[in-house]
Amino acid sequence: MRATFLPFNQPDLGPEEVEAVSHAIQSHWITRAGITTEFEAELSQYLDGVSVLALSSCTAGMHVALLACGIGPGDEVITTPYTFAASVNVILHAGATPVLVDVDPQTGNIDPSRIEDRIGPHTKAILPVHFAGHPVDLAAINTLRDHYHLTVIEDAAHAIASRYRSRKIGTHGNITAFSFYATKNLTTGEGGALVVPDPEVMEKVRMLSLHGMSRNAWNRYADQGSWFYTIELAGFKYNMTDIQAAMGRVQLKKLDAMQGRRQAIAARFTEGLKGLPVFPPHVQPNVGHAWHLYPLRLDLDAIEGDRADVIRDLKALNIGTSVHFIPIHLHPYYQKQLGYQVGDFPLAEKFYASEISLPLYPTMTDRDADDVLEALAEVLSRRLR
Ligand SMILES: *Cc1c(COP(=O)(O)O)cnc(C)c1O
Repeated sequence: MRATFLPFNQPDLGPEEVEAVSHAIQSHWITRAGITTEFEAELSQYLDGVSVLALSSCTAGMHVALLACGIGPGDEVITTPYTFAASVNVILHAGATPVLVDVDPQTGNIDPSRIEDRIGPHTKAILPVHFAGHPVDLAAINTLRDHYHLTVIEDAAHAIASRYRSRKIGTHGNITAFSFYATKNLTTGEGGALVVPDPEVMEKVRMLSLHGMSRNAWNRYADQGSWFYTIELAGFKYNMTDIQAAMGRVQLKKLDAMQGRRQAIAARFTEGLKGLPVFPPHVQPNVGHAWHLYPLRLDLDAIEGDRADVIRDLKALNIGTSVHFIPIHLHPYYQKQLGYQVGDFPLAEKFYASEISLPLYPTMTDRDADDVLEALAEVLSRRLR
């Protein structure tokens, strides 16, 4: 057994990030200024030139994206039950109604073949989530988008380096929201970025993210000290800061290397799990998986006990794990507010019942990964039926 506890997640931050953040602080422009603009330009370059706005979080990005697209009371937005609360909360904050569609039992992603049945006269948007970094079937979703004139807002919190049909997530013509939260593949502590293809929507998103100030006012610091601004909307305070962006610029430079480590560990897991009573994550052809998570599923028919037992046993062997996600419709608030009950989305529930997310992050060594595999083999062999 490992001598020390292997945490479920740890950010890959080193002296370069410390130096960059320290430099940002010493520049005296600690909130949004030049460093954030540079981070946006570099993110744009990473994403084949799309328009990018850096924000305080992915949640903030999805919220202003919905509002900028005119989505509000009376409108419906289709999303998945297999996600974090943020994806549904932003729809509620916009005043619209979330409509959940069950998942593909292999990937845990929204099943596009089930979406069309739920499109009605009030449907305005689809908000798919690239679960774990495995892209959703964007061809099918974009076909529905074009046929029914819908907006697609991709929750790409897990998908900064994902590819769909060889092109990166964020470059498929939709509004796309990335998260730079502490646990995500690229982190700024807290933070996010929004890709917005339509310049008019971008302008609105930009204003909404900073109190509704007009573009010229938003630029007023650069404008030879002009003090004048106008408020055009009741906006929010969702900007990124230069302290965050300084960390983000270093993380973006490291991203390919960090992704290489994630891929290597995921491959090691998939190989090492052979013969155990588990289903490793399914990867469809034509996608590049970002391996934000390694969501394996237990073969519950083959073992005694349930997922919680296995998590407890792994913890006793010094291996930290997590679960993604508790389906939306199982939380008390959404049950009360939207009338959901147990049984409404059986495929999401089945995925959830057997899911364990293994530790997976760039600072893990091969030895760490092998410790995870050995602990799993031991725990599961004790529980074999
Ligand atoms: C982390 C996460 C978010 C929220 O990201 P923030 O940057 O913390 O707002 C949204 N959706 C999913 C699926 C996430 O995992």
